[in-house]
Amino acid sequence: SLQGKTAIVTGSNSGIGLGVAIEFAKAGLNVVLNSFTNNDEDHALAAKLSEEHGTHVQYIKADMSKAEECRGLIEIAGGCDILVNNAGIQHVAPIQDFPTEKWDAIIAINLNSAFHTTAAALPHMRERGWGRVINIASAHGLTASPFKSAYVAAKHGVVGLTKVTALETAEEPITCNAICPGYVLTPLVEAQIPDTMKEYGMDREEVIKNVMLTRQPSKDFATVEQLGGTALFLSSDAAAQITGTTISVDGGWTAL
Ligand code: NAD
Repeated sequence: SLQGKTAIVTGSNSGIGLGVAIEFAKAGLNVVLNSFTNNDEDHALAAKLSEEHGTHVQYIKADMSKAEECRGLIEIAGGCDILVNNAGIQHVAPIQDFPTEKWDAIIAINLNSAFHTTAAALPHMRERGWGRVINIASAHGLTASPFKSAYVAAKHGVVGLTKVTALETAEEPITCNAICPGYVLTPLVEAQIPDTMKEYGMDREEVIKNVMLTRQPSKDFATVEQLGGTALFLSSDAAAQITGTTISVDGGWTAL
């Protein structure tokens, strides 16, 4: 049973990370919320989830663009049973105009952080004799789109890291898998609508229908609750032999 186990979810004061954290808290897991801010609202969010679900929820500030803070998050939490590498950012621009600092930030937050947190968390999982590493990759971990060079490169990297983590833990009661969402209407997606409008010279509705959901045959966004449910499934005993693979939650995107 997952009751009483502890999950650390990186980048979880918003969007998919928060959705996963809420589904975990509902299932009786203790949860560590994280982001790079240290606002009263961050801690209030943790207190509210604690109270609503009767599990221990705390917020730990750590900047996932910094190696030491990634590793520090795991140590401050005292390790975990389930690690969800979710923190991520996006920037949309053609390669020749892509700012180097945006490239570096995306590779650091979307890819390098998962390496550092996993490296720090595995010894604790081995000591506890059980573990789940769940990487939130993307349909862009399996396919590409123009103007998203850093993001697509980072997400393909996360899928590769997932396979290596699975192989290195294959004979242990530890699994590692990646969830590959299609479009989910979160603040991250909301924020790229203006840039995509500019790139394609389209209005908001056209961008949503003809650019974003054009590759999502369901013509519907996935929800953060559905992603939380997928993470819960990967954490369950039913998924004990699922390791080193990807689960797409993309309305058919990768079937096209
Ligand atoms: P979001 O912007 O709502 O959430 C991102 C989270 O990461 C936030 O909590 C933010 O505070 C945190 N974060 C950003 N920079 C950080 C840093 N330096 N250190 C710590 N935390 C940091 O976005 P989201 O859509 O919920 O995205 C979550 C993950 O899901 C990302 O990895 C994203 O690539 C992936 N994803 C999203 C979609 C989608 O359609 N929304 C699709 C596929 C994959």
